Amino acid sequence: MTGSVDVEFLIVGGGMTGDAAVRGIRSIRPDGGICLISDEPHPPYDRPPLSKGLWSGDEEERIWRDTASLDAEIRAGVRIVRLDPRARELEDSEGRRYRYGSLLLATGSRPRTLAGPGPGVVYFRTLEDFRTLRERVASGGAVGIVGGGFIGCELAASMAGQGLEMDQFFPESQPLEQVLAPPFSELLARKLEALGVQLHPGKGIGSATRTPEGLHLLDEAGERSGPFAALAAGLGVDPRDELASRAGLDTRDGILVDRSLRTSDPHIWAAGDVARFPLGLADAPQVVAHEEHANESGMLAGRAMAGEEVEYDPLPYVYSGIGSVNIELLGLPAPSDRWEVRPPDDPEGRGVARALRGPHVTGVLIWNRPGRAHLVRRRFPRPGDAQAEPGDLSLDVLAELVLE
Ligand SMILES: Cc1cc2nc3c(=O)[nH]c(=O)nc-3n(C[C@H](O)[C@H](O)[C@H](O)COP(=O)(O)OP(=O)(O)OC[C@H]3O[C@@H](n4cnc5c(N)ncnc54)[C@H](O)[C@@H]3O)c2cc1C
Repeated sequence: MTGSVDVEFLIVGGGMTGDAAVRGIRSIRPDGGICLISDEPHPPYDRPPLSKGLWSGDEEERIWRDTASLDAEIRAGVRIVRLDPRARELEDSEGRRYRYGSLLLATGSRPRTLAGPGPGVVYFRTLEDFRTLRERVASGGAVGIVGGGFIGCELAASMAGQGLEMDQFFPESQPLEQVLAPPFSELLARKLEALGVQLHPGKGIGSATRTPEGLHLLDEAGERSGPFAALAAGLGVDPRDELASRAGLDTRDGILVDRSLRTSDPHIWAAGDVARFPLGLADAPQVVAHEEHANESGMLAGRAMAGEEVEYDPLPYVYSGIGSVNIELLGLPAPSDRWEVRPPDDPEGRGVARALRGPHVTGVLIWNRPGRAHLVRRRFPRPGDAQAEPGDLSLDVLAELVLE
């Protein structure tokens, strides 16, 4: 054992949640040792620009979170392999030990992979992935994108905006079909096509292969597409909860936490993509893998570790930028919910929709009207919220709040 560490606040995970937790701890405790450990070779940075602004000229320098300036020790390039909650101790892959007073698991999530082999596929998640992909397309050539979710659509639009020849494959009939109200997913398809993205709806990709001509994708029927100079995939994510589950903490496809983001061990918290937490809007604990949740749950978990009583019950929120299209979604709509829509009829293409389950509003979608989500948020009916009237989020009210 070399270089053991004994620290009051220990954070495993150098993503946005880990950074936010450092800020949360420091907002209460200006003193107290903090050590943040990440197996990425970098200190914390913002992930959203990797599939958007960095392709259109934003400088890499803008993504760093400057966590170390909060008097936190950052150990980058270190992977934790074992947690012993009883000894309050962790061990990294080099055999170094870390003792803690309180621990945050902010280990995030990992991208899903193709069912079959995927040589040359970048499962897009990290700054290294961005750099790899950018290098592969530096001298042009066709690019294959697998997946019709946020990451696939953002990458396809951003890279098409750089003049690259893009092909996007997904099994659904429209991009973001699982998330958007129908007219908007159709509209998104037209927007992607207008950018030059060749869409391949109804094509589930099973594997990739490399030939002397380049990289190819194979659909589930074995039909080949390509050759491509580069391949990237956005197939969704899975929580990285194995450290916790091996240590005997309660996990269920995510680390289970209570409303104060505490795990089944009183000295360990979990937040961000990896946490499965009780949500007033839902019957069962949920995992949310979006930026606002990373920032807010990370901040609150940090405050809780520093001794504050906290209660976390957010209204889930995600935003996305796909070319010139801005999408914001509040709430937790299910694909089976019924959408009511005010499709865009103005030149700037603004729209709004609400998702309904029975009489209840489960989600609100804002299309191309950034900066208005807070107006909807204030009125969004919350469980036990006596002030929420059924008409508060009628389509007319929404149109007034969002579109005018
Ligand atoms: C390209 C991209 C674009 C996105 N755009 C948007 C957007 O526009 N809007 C939005 O709302 N959300 C967006 N998201 C989602 C959002 O970025 C994530 O929800 C957020 O980054 C999650 O943060 P996290 O810190 O919980 O997890 P992660 O970012 O996954 O960070 C976890 C960290 O822990 C490290 N780690 C894990 N296990 C160990 C271990 N055993 N030892 C050491 N280190 C470990 C990982 O390497 C990683 O650095 C985007 C995500 C990506 C990838």
